[in-house]
Amino acid sequence: MPRDVLTTDIRGQLILLGTGTSVGVPSIGCPCEVCASTDPRDKRTRCAALVGLPQGNLLIDTPPDLRQQLLRERVGLVHAVLYTHEHADHIFGLDDLRLLPFYLGHAVPLYCEPIVEDRIRKSFDYAFSEVEQTHTGAVPQLTFQRIGLAPFDLLGAHITPLRLKHGPRFDVLGFRIGNVAYCTDTSGIPPESLALLLGLDVLVLDALRHKPHITHLSLDEAVAIARELAPKRTIFTHMSHDLGHAATSAKLPAGMELGYDGLKIPLT
Ligand SMILES: [Zn+2]
Ligand SMILES: [Zn+2]
Ligand SMILES: [Zn+2]
Repeated sequence: MPRDVLTTDIRGQLILLGTGTSVGVPSIGCPCEVCASTDPRDKRTRCAALVGLPQGNLLIDTPPDLRQQLLRERVGLVHAVLYTHEHADHIFGLDDLRLLPFYLGHAVPLYCEPIVEDRIRKSFDYAFSEVEQTHTGAVPQLTFQRIGLAPFDLLGAHITPLRLKHGPRFDVLGFRIGNVAYCTDTSGIPPESLALLLGLDVLVLDALRHKPHITHLSLDEAVAIARELAPKRTIFTHMSHDLGHAATSAKLPAGMELGYDGLKIPLT
């Protein structure tokens, strides 16, 4: 029998668990103004989102800060995990899911592309070892559900994956759930994916810094995409210490804002 679990009802919300780039903000050893800022919105853990769907909580990515993020949001239950891609800042909190099988009564289903599954099997080889475990819960219990670009139903919601470029040689997935889309870690959105992002209420979009970068959108590039797609609301994420929250927010066009850890977005 699953145990009692302390958890918050987050149905109908997408919560930005983390909004920072791969090294987080503040960044280790950095003396800059943003890293030294006391504005809580300048404290950015690594990127993830939590989606409260009709039949359960869907976690998008498992960053190294996952434990603190779930504790902060007082969410104790995750029913499935969906991966954008296999970079370290998006997978290395996976071990923090070890408690979940006690609560769910079964292994945690991971929805991802084959290349992400391969990386997880290598990086977390102890979780897939044939050797008998010393005790229950010693390693994460996981199952894989492979996905591609075909839409699928999960936890009572219809999810549309879409291809995003993350630099010249690397592809990742963004996701549209109803009229809300989550597109992190991208340097460009191919036309066939742009077509899937029309008519949005909310677009969550990568915006790393002011200067261009080979694997991420700059703020200007992200603003241009947001202008083209014209969602009702655009929220930027995966930000470095280049983008101080208050100073950058003051200069953004109407309908666009910087995300921050803990921001709650209604699903529509
Ligand atoms: Zn990333
Ligand atoms: Zn800094
Ligand atoms: Zn990445």
